[in-house]
Amino acid sequence: MIATKGYAAQSATTPIAPFSYEHRTPGDNDVLIDIQYCGICHSDIHQGRNEWGNSLYPMVPGHEIVGTVASVGSKVTKFKAGDLAAIGCMVDSCRECATCREGEEQYCERGQTVFTYNAKDKQGNLTWGGYGNHIVCDEAFVLSVPKNLDPAAAAPLLCAGITTYSPLKQWNVGPGKKVGIVGLGGLGHMGLKFSHAFGAKTVLFTTSASKIEDAKKLGADEVVLTKEEGWAAKHARSFDFILDCVSAEHDLNTYLSLLKRDGTLCLVGVPEKPAAVSAFSVIMGRKRLSGSAIGGIKETQEMLDFCGKHNIVSDIEMTSFDKVNEAWDRVVKSDVKYRFVLDVKTL
Ligand code: NAP
Ligand code: ZN
Ligand code: ZN
Repeated sequence: MIATKGYAAQSATTPIAPFSYEHRTPGDNDVLIDIQYCGICHSDIHQGRNEWGNSLYPMVPGHEIVGTVASVGSKVTKFKAGDLAAIGCMVDSCRECATCREGEEQYCERGQTVFTYNAKDKQGNLTWGGYGNHIVCDEAFVLSVPKNLDPAAAAPLLCAGITTYSPLKQWNVGPGKKVGIVGLGGLGHMGLKFSHAFGAKTVLFTTSASKIEDAKKLGADEVVLTKEEGWAAKHARSFDFILDCVSAEHDLNTYLSLLKRDGTLCLVGVPEKPAAVSAFSVIMGRKRLSGSAIGGIKETQEMLDFCGKHNIVSDIEMTSFDKVNEAWDRVVKSDVKYRFVLDVKTL
């Protein structure tokens, strides 16, 4: 077994704290990674605090993982010791159903997607995430990080990056399209960068006046402060596609009213409470309310390669393990520009 140290949540209400655990002995197809950096995703907080009602404890969160390959099993072909490697939100799936074969392992038809943490692997053991110094994973779920990218700033691409890249691709966001991104957090700032890079006219919706100037620098053609009276009426029926990256309760009917006929509002944010949607909001204009979860392994590698080519990384604030609970509280207050990354040297 691989003795590992990290930080874990022991319950929904206690601070996360130092924890020792073991990863499986690496098998023939496994890669052992010494983790260098792990991003802090709002999903870590939702799950650490059991806001989705499915938490398994003890929980070592973290699914934006970048590190160095320490060793590889005898059948591993894609990686060798010393390579820079990354792991996102999944570490396994059935790999046999049509959906897995199509490279959409996050939607495994047999429900056998194994998430990086807060899940059980095929042997029934808890999986442990990136808030620790090692991880063991089958090479089929390990990604390559382009060498020109800063490894710390690339870590958030593994969740915030792919979760926004995938729906923007799915809905053909590009030149001639008007796209809205709601919420300038970890996901939102990556969605903004990708929509801009794909050539769409991109409007950023924010509740934070302090983020307006940054949003313009990150690629927004226009920024709308949603605290101002009458902001929605000015934009009624003008958007082709809106990506909702908000982590807390908010009114979806307002965003549906901004779509053109046949436009799509796609949810990636997962607030604790269900949303209320009026039938009128979708029937008038034949609008589509959709959602999207992360992205498959093939598309995640495509996204990383796109980022390498276009020099796209996350805007990060480095933090240390002794400040991780404080970082979580700041994320909840929308007070991070725009993703915290844990430096594993501080363990
Ligand atoms: P984050 O960094 O906390 O960003 C969320 C943003 O939402 C905030 O920065 C804020 O932006 C806005 N916001 C917060 N509270 C709000 C409120 N009460 N009303 C309106 N806007 C509010 O979180 P994240 O890591 O980007 O994650 C966002 C959500 O996506 C979370 O729910 C997370 O669990 C989910 N997620 C889903 C997937 C998936 O596969 N679908 C993957 C990863 C994460 P402004 O300050 O600009 O208003
Ligand atoms: Zn995430
Ligand atoms: Zn499957």
